[in-house]
Amino acid sequence: MFDLNTVLRPHIQTLTPYSSARDEYTGKEGIFLDANENAFGSTLDGSKVDDVASEEHYNRYPDPHQLAIKAKLAPIKGVRPGQIFLGNGSDEPIDLLVRATCTPGQDSILILPPTYGMYEVSAAINDVTLIKIPLTPDFQVDVPAVLSAIQPRTKLLFVCSPNNPTGNLIDSRDIKTLLANFNGLVVVDEAYIDFADTQSFTSLLDQYPNLVVLQTFSKAWGLAALRSGMCFASEELINVLNKIKPPYNISGPTQHLLLKALDNVPSKDTMVARILANRKELIANLLNLPLVQHVYPSDANFILVKFEDPKAVFDFLIDQQIIVRDRHRVKLCDGCLRITVGTESENEQLLATLKTFANRLTTTV
Ligand SMILES: *Cc1c(COP(=O)(O)O)cnc(C)c1O
Repeated sequence: MFDLNTVLRPHIQTLTPYSSARDEYTGKEGIFLDANENAFGSTLDGSKVDDVASEEHYNRYPDPHQLAIKAKLAPIKGVRPGQIFLGNGSDEPIDLLVRATCTPGQDSILILPPTYGMYEVSAAINDVTLIKIPLTPDFQVDVPAVLSAIQPRTKLLFVCSPNNPTGNLIDSRDIKTLLANFNGLVVVDEAYIDFADTQSFTSLLDQYPNLVVLQTFSKAWGLAALRSGMCFASEELINVLNKIKPPYNISGPTQHLLLKALDNVPSKDTMVARILANRKELIANLLNLPLVQHVYPSDANFILVKFEDPKAVFDFLIDQQIIVRDRHRVKLCDGCLRITVGTESENEQLLATLKTFANRLTTTV
């Protein structure tokens, strides 16, 4: 049986967390002389910050546990409020998970490249050993290789699905095999799950106590500027993350804006539908271009595209102020650029520019 205490660093298990002023009294009414705030107001009062944010009392510390947001988010995600942790971007739970479980210089995490860069950066910041088991050429998990690479001190295994930068879903049966055969935490990063035709792993939280699911408000919800990530896991693990997070990690205006955004699920769904329609169209149009060697299937809001001369294409696009992500030096992605699905007119401009590039080639050679 999985035992969270075998994964946590010993001092984290016994840590006494910071007790904030807002932990000791949770009522809304009162004379608040407990947190050394400015009782007169804020330097933003009376200034024309936009309507939504101006309802905030900037002089008061926000709810450290974001209970109103979790109450609204839980039914949307089909989880219990206690299974939710909110972070300053997904980067925050990624870092907290590494710090909660890995003793620097001793423990390790396992990743499946090519994948999202933050796992490796977080391991490096925390002086934690990184074990890399590459995906197969069709960007799936080499399950036997992963299982035999796991060390007694391997604490975390990151699986990004749909994967960045390849765009594909990872076979859910393989993720379940990893969950069943690994005594550490399996972190399934679902930043792009809204664009995939599949169920979230959040529905399996009660079945697998070692499962952690990451999602974000930065992509489908269109709220990258707010820096808000979601982490779903057992109540036991969420309590640990709450213990070690900075007390007020989600700012008051951000909490206020997230509450508004959560009332607007249909708007997210409409944008996702448009992105999916545009993805389909963009893929079809890219396949018609002779300079495109391969378009990888996508379950995300971006497409991995292989070009004969990716560097020249990248530079030409930059010249025309079209910025894509250069992944051509990444192992298994040789020759590839990662292109985010844009609006109809942005995609048209991209395609027109790629045609111009191709024409220049044929006229100059
Ligand atoms: C974009 C992305 C995130 C989201 O990061 P935030 O810090 O929440 O903006 C997480 N994981 C992957 C794989 C991503 O591509």
